[in-house]
Amino acid sequence: MSKSAARSMAKMFQMMSQMIESEKDHLSELDGAIGDGDHGITMSIGFLAINAELSKLDLDQASLSDVMSTAATGFLNAVGASTGPLYATGFRRAAKTLADRTTLDLAACADMIEAISTGIRERGKGQRGDKTMLDVWLPAADAAANALAENKTRDAFWHDVVAAAENGAAATRSMIATKGRAARVRERSLGHIDPGAASAGLLIRVMAEALQSSGQEAH
Ligand SMILES: [Mg+2]
Repeated sequence: MSKSAARSMAKMFQMMSQMIESEKDHLSELDGAIGDGDHGITMSIGFLAINAELSKLDLDQASLSDVMSTAATGFLNAVGASTGPLYATGFRRAAKTLADRTTLDLAACADMIEAISTGIRERGKGQRGDKTMLDVWLPAADAAANALAENKTRDAFWHDVVAAAENGAAATRSMIATKGRAARVRERSLGHIDPGAASAGLLIRVMAEALQSSGQEAH
């Protein structure tokens, strides 16, 4: 029996959590340079909570949308502050976008990335250049839309998305923070990668690894 799309997406969240666990200290160090040093812990708590919630779902019955909305609720319940509502809103919007999807073909993947970024952007009222996770999610969403429009292969699609995300994360090093706690140190934030952008880059890299081989039945 082939793996269901919902199962692939749950597996993606599991892999994201593993990645966050292994990068937790690094993310907190990045945050320590310009914030309160808790970003690794916060993301760890959030993704462990997502997986705890997902483990209660019957993945043979669950839809892609169920997995996303469960992730949104799990993350928000565990992480009340800043990052919590941002990712929760992104995942909730992705749940809506995926409501009539049953496979993770590239169109669904592009819509999902776009929905997560739009949710984060609207909730955080931010934009590119603010030195936040949006400097990763927005270019990743653009890259996905472009790759889809250009009819790229699945490998090329994910290559473009990951490259845009990683370039976006690296670019925050030369930005001055205007949002969140890092904004209080403004110029001092220059020269440091934003922790939220760094973790967003990791999440998108894992998303690519997890979804690169799923949904191929549609192509
Ligand atoms: Mg922090």
